[in-house]
Amino acid sequence: MDLWFETALLPTGWAGRVTVRIAEGRISHVLAGTDPAAGAERHRVAIPGLGNVHSHGFQRGMAGLSERRGRPDDDFWSWREIMYRFLDRLTPEDIAAITALAYAEMLETGYTRVGEFHYLHNDIDGARYADPAETAGAIVHAAERTGIGLTLLPVFYAHSDFGGLPAKPGQRRFLSDIDGFATLVEASRAKLPADAVLGVAPHSLRAVTPEELRAVTALTTGPLHIHAAEQTREVEACLAWSGARPVEWLLDNLGIGRRWTLIHATHLTGAEADRLAASGAVAGLCPVTEANLGDGIFPAERYLAAGGAIATGTDSNIQIDAACELRAIEYSQRLSLRRRAILSPEGASVGETLFHAALAGGGQALGVETGIAPGAPADIVSLNMDHPGFAGASADTLLDRWIFAGRAGAIDCVWRAGTLQVVGGKHRGSEAIASHYRKTLERLLG
Ligand SMILES: [Zn+2]
Repeated sequence: MDLWFETALLPTGWAGRVTVRIAEGRISHVLAGTDPAAGAERHRVAIPGLGNVHSHGFQRGMAGLSERRGRPDDDFWSWREIMYRFLDRLTPEDIAAITALAYAEMLETGYTRVGEFHYLHNDIDGARYADPAETAGAIVHAAERTGIGLTLLPVFYAHSDFGGLPAKPGQRRFLSDIDGFATLVEASRAKLPADAVLGVAPHSLRAVTPEELRAVTALTTGPLHIHAAEQTREVEACLAWSGARPVEWLLDNLGIGRRWTLIHATHLTGAEADRLAASGAVAGLCPVTEANLGDGIFPAERYLAAGGAIATGTDSNIQIDAACELRAIEYSQRLSLRRRAILSPEGASVGETLFHAALAGGGQALGVETGIAPGAPADIVSLNMDHPGFAGASADTLLDRWIFAGRAGAIDCVWRAGTLQVVGGKHRGSEAIASHYRKTLERLLG
């Protein structure tokens, strides 16, 4: 199959009159300066699909349910209580229905692969399902229904706080021991679609002891993800437990490198930012969720200046939008530093700089190649050039317009592994998926 674009963003930069040849879901050839071949589909502007490195699919069903002030110090921890109550009802079918909506929305906004940080493993009463990968199967079902690429990250979770403290009743659906988790990982592997990637995710230093960390990370050669330094209370508890801050502890004790993605990594000292950047690991930033939860601001200027790798994630799925995440990274810096255009080299486009960084970091974090290039999956997004946000645009402002000024409707088509999943900004299954989601939420919240 051939797609032809008037303009396309290639690894070498913007190119005109580009033919992209696709075979078996991958890009086989990219030719610039060509006329469209007979039968080639013609489109205006192509950019590569992005990786969403951090999602908890079921949390899409809680979006907007925890926006009332409960107590004067309302923070992440009170949100977590509401999340635990929501979990008391969810069946695997519910997880599949809610996650399918989240994944359709991801595709509609330009995310073509998701890293599902999947920790909801057990039945409502905390017992193992007969099939330990029952809920992983629900995630796979949502990925197959929507066509999004899946990097599944089964989560190991065993304790309520630093020092191996016993888990709380609200955490019963997450818990495993090491042997049970190894079985769960293998049962999950058996369910994966052809181009899925399997990693593992020790939940956090709160939930996993150092001994367990080493055992869990030995279970796969795939990507390794962990939540780190999201809240200041977590940093203080880690200092009290070990004398080191969470990212400092991970760098000192785990040989953090390119296989690792540290989710959030919000609270870093300057020295931690420099060391994390030099490690080659990815910082998985989720600035929309981090803003929603009042977590804090990642020190992006210093980290990027030190050559650090970043990617974006939609995490709680409170509002799924790839452009919004990229914009929030830059805007959080502007608000805290009271300057403009902070995260690009002088004279360069901020949107383009952040897009390229998130594209590369997303691929690294999710264990896949990215970009419109031979060998990469044919994960391609076309922009809707009839959208007023692109009026009079030249290539060098396209990504800034999309990221900073795009609004809904800026994306036209999305191909995932060469299959057209989004047309005119709508996922091909969006009506059925939304209807199923509505019925599920009405029952759960009724
Ligand atoms: Zn998370």
